[in-house]
Amino acid sequence: MAKKIQAVRGMHDILPDETPRWQFLEDTVRRVFQSYAYRELRTPVLEMTELFKRSIGEVTDIVEKEMYSFEDRNGDSLTLRPEGTAGCVRACMENGLLHNQLQRLWYQGPMFRHERPQKGRYRQFQQIGLEAYGMSGPDIDLEVILISARLWRELGISGLELQINTLGTPDERKAYRARLVGYFQERRDQLDEDSRRRLNSNPLRILDSKNPDMAELIAAAPSLMDDLGEESRAHFSAITEGLDAAGIAYVLNPRLVRGLDYYSRTVFEWVTDLLGAQGTVCAGGRYDGLVEQLGGKATPAIGFAMGVERLVAVLEALDQARPAAALHAYLVVAGSAGQAGLILAESLRNALPGLRMQVNCGGGSFKSQFKRADRSGAQVALILGDDELENHCVGVKWLRQNREQIRVNHDALTGFLTEMIGEESRE
Ligand code: ATP
Ligand code: MG
Repeated sequence: MAKKIQAVRGMHDILPDETPRWQFLEDTVRRVFQSYAYRELRTPVLEMTELFKRSIGEVTDIVEKEMYSFEDRNGDSLTLRPEGTAGCVRACMENGLLHNQLQRLWYQGPMFRHERPQKGRYRQFQQIGLEAYGMSGPDIDLEVILISARLWRELGISGLELQINTLGTPDERKAYRARLVGYFQERRDQLDEDSRRRLNSNPLRILDSKNPDMAELIAAAPSLMDDLGEESRAHFSAITEGLDAAGIAYVLNPRLVRGLDYYSRTVFEWVTDLLGAQGTVCAGGRYDGLVEQLGGKATPAIGFAMGVERLVAVLEALDQARPAAALHAYLVVAGSAGQAGLILAESLRNALPGLRMQVNCGGGSFKSQFKRADRSGAQVALILGDDELENHCVGVKWLRQNREQIRVNHDALTGFLTEMIGEESRE
């Protein structure tokens, strides 16, 4: 036998038993985003490598060691997108969506990062994200956080912690950076290799280190709050006051700097303790500098991205899901009635758009067909044997209730099934 080919390490199949939970999440997200007037944007999974180098920053985990980059047949360096914001900004600029306009957008799709696979960390994973352009005030920051909070409510997810911080303006960060470098320089011997390298190139990223040996050192580092000017302070307190008014609890986390370079002012994460180390299910913030950095006109921007695998794991841990929609009917057909069964099913589907029915294909004895009918979860088995065919009727056998089997004429069948579907929606 030929050797079996397996999926790429860190890339997963989502099997039919799991997809109802995914669909519940995706449907809910779509509905909530729509209710806030956010519109969906779809961009390619491949972009020029340069886009990510210039947006995410050269000295980041993603660009240094996580990107799936390759040369295509023309010798262009392309990269499978590791995140959605860069492509979103590129698409908006390229299509003139940012010219004197406010935009509220969202996206979803697979992202790719060559990380060490573990629970909650994969090489292909799904993100759903939201971005708002052209608004610089704290009101939109607040709206974006309120949307995320509503998502958890509508998904039935409780127990997430909102952590929030501000990174100030680039100037304020410069002052802080100097203090931070001073602090780490004095403790150079306690830094790990990555952090030593970042000490000069990107010291703030040291705060984002995942190395537990560095945790204590990082916890005692100076705080950016002390370097904030009047405006940044006011911006930040407008958000925290808004959260108070909305009754949304939050924790100030001065160590929260986010993995990507392009953030400014507001940053936030939603964290769960249900998933072990990979606890951040949603992360976002303001990135006012990015559009200009990519060659566009300076445009204020804010957004967040959710890790869908992690959220699905939370739904699973909390046993939250919309049950998969059960079949209404399973059509059992006698050998000679195969085609007639499919045609009958077509006319029923035409008449009843909400009908969920499976037709037995591939033959089988009545006994084995009834077994399949039972396993299908259908409410009733409809039976089309030679006798029923001749008499223009079907047998109806209840699979989940103790009821007498009956016969229903073809012309009464639509009415019969309508009642079944109606009963379901009244429940
Ligand atoms: P982490 O700190 O967990 O590495 P990150 O800062 O790299 O996350 P972002 O780039 O902000 O993550 O992505 C937003 C969200 O996408 C994360 O909060 C997380 O839920 C999810 N995510 C990021 N990387 C992965 C991955 N490799 N596998 C699964 N989900 C991921
Ligand atoms: Mg990461």
